[in-house]
Amino acid sequence: MQRISIIIECGLRDGLEGTPTSFSLDNTPYDIDLCSSDMIRFHETVSNWARHARKVKSHPGRYTPSGDLRRPQVIRNWGQRVRTWAKEQGYDITPNGRIGSRIKADYVQATGDRRPVVR
Ligand SMILES: [Zn+2]
Repeated sequence: MQRISIIIECGLRDGLEGTPTSFSLDNTPYDIDLCSSDMIRFHETVSNWARHARKVKSHPGRYTPSGDLRRPQVIRNWGQRVRTWAKEQGYDITPNGRIGSRIKADYVQATGDRRPVVR
């Protein structure tokens, strides 16, 4: 039987195992796999800058290193209104589950409350 193992390779050097690392620059999130020595170099370089930088807990509409897009408050509020409306209308939705596009469309049609556009 063939044994299959998945090795994440370092993004800088071939044949070395890498560990996934995330960072963002100019609002663009990046993932890179780094072997231990590149990880040390990366950490040293970035920490030189981080020392002079402000820490950010979360930024609306910006990707966090986890890859999670935090939606702006206005969108979340709108989602909350859709959720409340959908429950009142007897739609079957879980407290924190996704709201289906059908429900959203029905909500907009029924209330005229469109999803805010955020740029
Ligand atoms: Zn490396």
